[in-house]
Amino acid sequence: MTKNDDIYDVMVIGAGFAGMAAALFASAQGLKVVQTGATGGIDFSTGFIDLMGVHPIAEGKRWKNPWSAIEAVVQDCPNHPYGLLSCDEIFESVALFTRFLAEQGLEYIGHTDRNTCSLTPAGTIKRTYRVPKTAWNGSVALGKKAPTLIVDFYGLKGFSGVQLVETQKHHWPELKTVRIQFPSGRGELYPEHMAWALADPAVQEKMIAAIMPHAVDVEYIGFPAVLGLNDPQKVVDHLAALSGKKIFEIPTMPPSIAGPRLRAVFDRGLPAQGVRTHSQKLVTSVKELDSGMFEFSVGTGAAMLPVVAKKAILATGRFFGKGLRAERKKLVEPVFDLPVVQPETREQWHEQDFFAPQGHPVNSAGIEVDERLRPIGQSGRPAYDNLYAAGAILAHHDWMRMKCGAGLAIATAYKAVKELTR
Ligand SMILES: Cc1cc2nc3c(=O)[nH]c(=O)nc-3n(C[C@H](O)[C@H](O)[C@H](O)COP(=O)(O)OP(=O)(O)OC[C@H]3O[C@@H](n4cnc5c(N)ncnc54)[C@H](O)[C@@H]3O)c2cc1C
Repeated sequence: MTKNDDIYDVMVIGAGFAGMAAALFASAQGLKVVQTGATGGIDFSTGFIDLMGVHPIAEGKRWKNPWSAIEAVVQDCPNHPYGLLSCDEIFESVALFTRFLAEQGLEYIGHTDRNTCSLTPAGTIKRTYRVPKTAWNGSVALGKKAPTLIVDFYGLKGFSGVQLVETQKHHWPELKTVRIQFPSGRGELYPEHMAWALADPAVQEKMIAAIMPHAVDVEYIGFPAVLGLNDPQKVVDHLAALSGKKIFEIPTMPPSIAGPRLRAVFDRGLPAQGVRTHSQKLVTSVKELDSGMFEFSVGTGAAMLPVVAKKAILATGRFFGKGLRAERKKLVEPVFDLPVVQPETREQWHEQDFFAPQGHPVNSAGIEVDERLRPIGQSGRPAYDNLYAAGAILAHHDWMRMKCGAGLAIATAYKAVKELTR
C-alpha cells in the first residue's frame, strides 16, 4: 500500500522542453513533483527558443514580430494550441523559464517584441525569440554586417566557415573565415570533446594565438558552439579578453552542444527545487486507482518502480519523443491510449511531394485537449479530470515549419500547471 509520503502531487511524463518546463513551474508552485523521461528534442536542439516565426507555412511567410504572428495564427488556425493561451501567459512562461536558466548560469537574450535574426550552421538566417547569450554577438554582427571572422576546425564535421561565408557573401561582404588545427586533439573532432577541452584556459590561449594573425582587421570572431560545456559564457569572456574582439557562437548541426548544456542545467536545477527525477526511464503502464489518483509503472524489469500521483502532465512529444507511435494503419498514443487527431487514412499522412511547401498532415497530428489542456477521450469529454497535456504532443500545429517548438512547449506547460493548480 502507498504511504501518503510516497504520493506526489504531480507526475510529469516527459523530459523535453515541455516536461522540463512543467516540472519547473509545478515545483515553483510548491507542489511535490516527480518527473520521468528519456532523451528528447531538447538534447538535439540548437538551443534557440522559437516562439513563432513562420505563418502561413505554405507561403513561408517569416515574421519579425512573434506576437503579431501568434495573433495571425490563432485567427487563421483557431485550433492551434496558442489559441488556448493569452499573450501575457506566453510571455510570462518564457520569462520564468529563461530566468531559471540564467540563475543556473545559462543566460538567454532577445527582444520583447521582435524576433532576433541568427546565423544557422548552414549560413542561412533564422528568426527566433531567445538565443543563448553566447550567440548574441553573432546577431549584432549580422545586423551591422560588421567585419567578422568565422573560425572552423580541421576534423570538425557539420560546420563549415566556407559554406557560411559563401551563403552570406552578397549580403555581408566583410565576413571571412579561417580553418585552424584544434589545439587539443587531431583527427575527427566532436563538439562535446572540444567543449570539455576548451574549459581549460591554456587551450583557449593556444587557440586564440593561432587565430589572431587572421583577425587583425575584424571586430567580431564567431566559433562553432563548442566553447565549454558548463560555463560557456566564462570561456567567451576569456576569449574576448585574450583577443580584444567580440566573440560569439553559432550552433553546430544536431546533436549540438546546446542540448547537453540545457540538460545539464535541468539535471542540477530541478532536483535542487525538490523535483524527484527518474531520468532515462519511461512510463510503461498506468492505472487509475479508486481514489482517482494514477499509479504509474516506471522503467522495466527489476528496475521497474511504481509511482503514485494525484495529477499528471503528459509531455511526451510526438514521434521523436515517442509520445506518438505510428502503427501500420494509425497513430496511437501509447501511455493512456488517448485518441489521436490524424488524417483518416495512412495514404493521407504525407503529401506526394516530400518538400511540399504546406508540410505534411501527419506533422500536425496529436491529441485534442479542452480549454484547460485536458486530453479529450473517446467520449468527446476530458478522458480524466486530473490529466493535462503540453508540448509537441498537442494536435493542430507543425512546430518545425512554424518555428514555434520550444516556445509552444514552454507556454503550454505553464498553462497546464496553472490549470492543475486551479
Ligand atoms: C534536431 C532538433 C532541433 C530543434 N531545434 C529547435 C530550435 O532551434 N528551437 C526551438 O524552439 N525548438 C527546437 N526543437 C524543438 C524542441 O526541442 C522540442 O522538440 C519541441 O519543442 C517539443 O518538445 P516536447 O517536450 O513537447 O517533446 P520532446 O522534446 O519530444 O520530449 C518528449 C519527452 O517525453 C519523453 N517520453 C516519451 N514517452 C514517454 C514515456 N512513456 N514515459 C516517460 N517519458 C516519455 C521522452 O523521453 C522525452 O523526454 C528542435 C528539435 C529537434 C529534434
